[in-house]
Amino acid sequence: MPKRPARTLPCLALSLALPGPALAERLALHCGQLFDAASGRLLAERTVLVEDGRIREVRTGLAAVEGARAVDLRGHTCSPGWIDLHVHLDGQSSPDSYSEGFRLNPEFTVLRSVGYARKTLHAGFTTVRDLGGETVLALRDAIDQGLVEGPRIHAAGKSIATTGGHADPTNGMSRELRHALGTPGPAEGVIDSPEEARQAVRQRYKEGSDLIKITATGGVLSYARSGDAPQFTVDEVRAVVETARDYGFHVAAHAHGKEGMRRAILGGVRTIEHGTYMDDEIFALMKKHGTWYVPTISAGRFVAEKAKEDGYYPEIVRPKAARIGAQIQATFARAHRAGVKIAFGTDAGVSYHGDNADEFVFMVEAGMSPAEALRTATVHAAEVLGAGDLGQLAAGFRADVVAVPGNPLEDISLTRKVDFVMKDGRIVLQPD
Ligand SMILES: [Zn+2]
Repeated sequence: MPKRPARTLPCLALSLALPGPALAERLALHCGQLFDAASGRLLAERTVLVEDGRIREVRTGLAAVEGARAVDLRGHTCSPGWIDLHVHLDGQSSPDSYSEGFRLNPEFTVLRSVGYARKTLHAGFTTVRDLGGETVLALRDAIDQGLVEGPRIHAAGKSIATTGGHADPTNGMSRELRHALGTPGPAEGVIDSPEEARQAVRQRYKEGSDLIKITATGGVLSYARSGDAPQFTVDEVRAVVETARDYGFHVAAHAHGKEGMRRAILGGVRTIEHGTYMDDEIFALMKKHGTWYVPTISAGRFVAEKAKEDGYYPEIVRPKAARIGAQIQATFARAHRAGVKIAFGTDAGVSYHGDNADEFVFMVEAGMSPAEALRTATVHAAEVLGAGDLGQLAAGFRADVVAVPGNPLEDISLTRKVDFVMKDGRIVLQPD
């Protein structure tokens, strides 16, 4: 037998130490109760058989399964791994956030995001959609390759904005700096015509994005006066959506003001993020076009609270944060009553990473049933992503499982107490 070259050995040793792809071990999760996301019902005593990263079978009862290691979750409710459709893993708000772009190197940003990704996964969120951070593309790949621990990421890469709009990277800079940096264009995610919109989408494809994010209106936290004025024409949105479709991407639209939302919906985006000033006319338009609403109540409440603190936000941001932030939970309540399709998203990064499950509590506070709230983060979010193997605990689905002690349909705040997480069949957190 030829001798194996010595230089391959360190690599082999390294791969054994890393949180790599699922091992072939068969596991039988004995769940006291199981949340059936398809029906919204709680099923008593189910055994989830996991093999090669997938759910092989879900059996009634808690009998031992031959050839499978049992995992005792009898006091727990098992749910499909949760999906947060709106996070920003490349940062987290603090009073220093506004100067970060001038101070931090991307390698620091991405190393810091490793910690945020781990927190998110341990909070029960096994999949996220990251809406606008270039370094997150590398984080996504490192997680996929098992180099670091974190949720599965669908990443937008750089958000697409118009000149001076929310996500124009040179907003708020001095003229000298702007001259030194040059005017950002489609390559940097800033467009001012349908032609440039197409180029910007193709550039995102080239950089490895999974979907496209546009900023259809002003934003709360950008260094600009208006948080809700429209910033795209319908033709620009349409050019983004049609080009995105060529690459199998869907489009998420950040929007606070009504006119910007109207244009985004008519242009064909899949989701409206925040949706602060939605009204009956917008609800009807969304239902007609099948547009999803991703509310981000967590971020709304966070910024409204921080706007009360002196110095947390710059003075140009503070009034927007106070006004728009406080509105989102009420808008969510009306949209839910109107029958708009709702999927789960927090905007974590504006609020704190790892607190994602607060959104469930806020949804229930605003009148949604706990079962429906859990469905927004499972079957509904999976539908938004077009991920046919996520969001349910059933044969053939990816083995992404979270468990909480007790019954979350009686007490939704138990979603903050996740103590078991499995992703792709590998246990990443378990009860002591
Ligand atoms: Zn956001």
